[in-house]
Amino acid sequence: MSLDNTIENFKAYLERKNAFSRAGGLYGWDMQTANPPAAGMPYRAKTMAILAEEEFKMSISEEMKSYLTELEAHFDSLSDDVKAMHRICKKQYYDNINIPAEEARAFEELKVKGYEVWRNAKINNDFKSFSPYLKQLVDYQKKFVAYRDDSVNTDNIYHAYDSLLADYEPGLTCKDLDVFFAKIREAIVPLLKDVVASGNVIDTSFLNRPVSLEKQKRIARLIMDTLGFDFDKGLLAETEHPFCGAIAHNDVRITTHYYENNFLSSLFSVAHESGHAIYDQNVSEAYADTVVDNGTSFGIHESQSRFFENVICRSLEFWQYIYDDIMEILGDDFKDITAEQFYRAANVAQPSLIRIEADELTYSLHIMIRYEVEKLLFSGDIDVNDLPALWNEKMKEYLGIEPADDKTGILQDVHWSYSSFGYFPSYSVGSAYAAQLLAYMEKDMDVYGNIRNGNIAAIKSWLTDKIHKYGALYEPEQLISMINGEKLNADYYVAYLRKKFS
Ligand code: ZN
Repeated sequence: MSLDNTIENFKAYLERKNAFSRAGGLYGWDMQTANPPAAGMPYRAKTMAILAEEEFKMSISEEMKSYLTELEAHFDSLSDDVKAMHRICKKQYYDNINIPAEEARAFEELKVKGYEVWRNAKINNDFKSFSPYLKQLVDYQKKFVAYRDDSVNTDNIYHAYDSLLADYEPGLTCKDLDVFFAKIREAIVPLLKDVVASGNVIDTSFLNRPVSLEKQKRIARLIMDTLGFDFDKGLLAETEHPFCGAIAHNDVRITTHYYENNFLSSLFSVAHESGHAIYDQNVSEAYADTVVDNGTSFGIHESQSRFFENVICRSLEFWQYIYDDIMEILGDDFKDITAEQFYRAANVAQPSLIRIEADELTYSLHIMIRYEVEKLLFSGDIDVNDLPALWNEKMKEYLGIEPADDKTGILQDVHWSYSSFGYFPSYSVGSAYAAQLLAYMEKDMDVYGNIRNGNIAAIKSWLTDKIHKYGALYEPEQLISMINGEKLNADYYVAYLRKKFS
C-alpha cells in the first residue's frame, strides 16, 4: 500500500474511533446537565461503557499497530498533523497494550469503589477508611506505569511519577517541577507572610448581597459576550460543579453554578470556563473532529482559563470597562460600590484551607503541597498513613495555617479517589503559562489598555494565533517556545504575583 493510502485509511480509522468518544462525551454532558432522573443508571451507564470500550479496543487493535508501524517508517516525510495524530495514538497504544485485561478491569472497579469510599470518608472525616484503598490505587498505578513502553526518563528515580505527569503535561518531568516549585516557594511564601502581616483589611461584605438568578444569568451572558465566547458554537448550562465540555468541532459547552449570596462565584467560574471554551472553539477548522482537535495539554488548557479569569477579569481595567453594564443589571442594591471596590474584593489574598476557594496568590502553594506529597508517595519514601500529618505540617509551613480535621485537609480533593495522580501540577503550570503569555503579549500590544477599552477581541485573536489554532498539533514545550524561544519559566509567574500582591 502506498503511504498516501495508509494515511487516508489511518484518518478514516481515527474518524470512526473519534465517533465513539464524541458520542460518549455527549452522553456524559447530557447526564450531568439535562437527563431525567431515572434515565441514568444503569441503562445509560451501560451504553456509555460500551462506547468507551469500543473506542479503547480501536486504540490497541492490530490495525492501529500496523498504522503506527507503517507511519513510523516514513516519519520524516509526514505532515505535521499526521505526525501529531501518530504521536497521540502511539502514546495511547503503548500506555495500554501491555496491561492484562483482568487487571485493567479490576483497576476500573477499584476506582469506582475508591470514589465511593473517599466520598464517605470525607463526609465522616475518616481518613483511615480511605487509606487502604488509596494504597491499592497507588500500587496499581505504579504497576501500570511499569507496563508502559514509554521513553520518559527511564534513568530518573521518579520514573513512575514522571510517566504520570506525561498524561497531563507531556514533556514535563519532576526535574522541571522541582525547579519550578522551588522558585514559587522562595517567592510566594515570604510574600504571603508580608501580605498577612500588613494587616490590610479589604471590605468584601457587599459581595454577599443577594443577586437574583435572573440577574446572574444576564451577568453570565454579558461576561461570555465580552470575552468572545461564540454562542453559535456553544452554550451555557447549570451544574453543581462548573466545567467545560468539548463535544465536537463547533460544539463547546460550559456550565456554571449560581449562588444567590455570592454572585462573583458564578461570574468568575463563567470567565474561567469561557477561557477553556474559547481555546476549543478556535482550533483550526483543518483539524475538525480529529485527535488534534483538542487542547494540547491540561496545563496549556488551564493557562487559557486562567488568562481569561485572572489576567483579564480580575484586573482593575476590566472592572472599569464592565462597570456600567454590570451596574445596570445589579441595580440600586450595589449603587454605593465603585469599580475599584469590586476589583479589590475580587483580589483579596489570605491563607485558606480549601484549594478550590484559594486566591491567586496562595493557590499554587496548595498545589505545591500536593506535588510534594505525591512525589513522596510514588518514590516510596512515605506510606499512605503518613499523609494526614504530613499534609498539616506542610500547610503550617507554607500557608501558616493548619486544618483542624482531614476533611478540610488531605481528604478535600476528589482526584486521588479515582487514581488521578500527576494531575495537580498542571493547575499551577497553567497559571505560570498564563503569566508567561501575558509578558509576551505585552510586547505586541497594550494589554491592559485593550482591556480598559473592552477590546478583548485583540487579546483573543493574539491567543488564537499563538495557541488556539494549533489544537494538539504541538506539545506544550514546542508550542510555547515557538512564541519566544523559551520553555516554561516560573520567573514570569513570580513577577506577575509580586506586582499584583506586593
Ligand atoms: Zn480549569
